[in-house]
Amino acid sequence: MKPTEQLLNEILDEVRPLIGQGKVADYIPALAEVPPHKLGIAVCYNDGEIIQAGDCEEGFSIQSISKVLSLTLAMSLYEPEEIWQRVGKEPSGHAFNSMIQLELENGIPRNPFINAGALVVSDMLHSRLSAPQYRMLELVRELACNPHIIYDKTVAASEMQHSDRNASIAYLMRSFGNFQNEVMPVLSNYFSYCALKMSCVDLARTFSYLANKGLPLGAKKTIVTQTQSKQMNALLATCGLYDGAGEFAYRVGMPGKSGVGGGIVAIVPGEMTIAVWSPELDPSGNSLAGTAALELLAERIGRSIF
Ligand code: GLN
Repeated sequence: MKPTEQLLNEILDEVRPLIGQGKVADYIPALAEVPPHKLGIAVCYNDGEIIQAGDCEEGFSIQSISKVLSLTLAMSLYEPEEIWQRVGKEPSGHAFNSMIQLELENGIPRNPFINAGALVVSDMLHSRLSAPQYRMLELVRELACNPHIIYDKTVAASEMQHSDRNASIAYLMRSFGNFQNEVMPVLSNYFSYCALKMSCVDLARTFSYLANKGLPLGAKKTIVTQTQSKQMNALLATCGLYDGAGEFAYRVGMPGKSGVGGGIVAIVPGEMTIAVWSPELDPSGNSLAGTAALELLAERIGRSIF
C-alpha cells in the first residue's frame, strides 16, 4: 500500500509523545540549540512522487547521513579493493565515535559509517579531488534537485572547535599508515559534509538512487552501478545505525542511515526512499521518534527487506 499524506500525519501524531524522552545532541552548541519538537517525514517514490508531512521542508544538519555520500563519491573514484583494504564491512557494535577497535585492528575501521571509517573515506577523497567540498556540494545539489543546499558554516566551525575526538581518531589511523593527508584539512572537509543543511524532502530525493539500482532521480545515467547500490544497501542494513543497527533492522527492517542531527534515511529497494527528522536521540545517537515513525510506517504499508 502507498502511504498517503494523511497516514504520514497520523504517524507523526502517534510518535509525537516520545518527544521529551530523548536527548538533543549537545556536543556542539550549534546542535544543542535546535528546537526538540521539530518532526517531519518525506517519502520519495522512484518515479519522483513525493508524499510529505510535518516539518519536512525545513533544513537541518544531516551529520552522519553524509557518510553515505562520501562513500558514493569514493566509489566513483577508486577501485573496490582500494577502498576495502583501508576500511572494513563489518558492524562495529560500538558507539559511532569509538576508538577501541582501531588500536586492536591496526588502524583499519570496521566500516565506512562510523566516524573512523568516514574519516578514511574523506582522506581518500582529499587525495583524488582538488576541491572535495565543492564537488560534494555539487553532487548533493544535483541529487536533491535543489541548487540552494548549503553547508551550515556555524555548525562546521563549531565542530572544528570541538574536534579533539575525531582528530585523535584520525591521528591514530595515521600512526598505523591508514591516513595519507594532513589531518586538519581532511577534518575540515569531513565537518563540512556533516554540516550540509538539508530537509527531509531533499534527503528523500537525494538517496533515491539507492532505491533505484544506482539511478538518481530524473537522471539518465547511474551514479553507482546496480551492484554497488546493492552493496551499499547491505552496508546500511548492517552498519548504518552504529550499535543500534540490530535494533533498527528488527524494528524497521530497511537499510538506513542516521545522523546526530536527528535525521534518518531509509530505503525500500525498488520502490521508495523515506527521510524522517526529529532531533532528540536515543543512547546510540539515533533519532528516537524518527525510528518509531519508520517502524510504524513500515508496519502500516507492509514493507521490510526481511
Ligand atoms: N559530526 C559528528 C561527529 O563527527 C557526526 C556523528 C554522527 O552524526 N553520528 O561526531
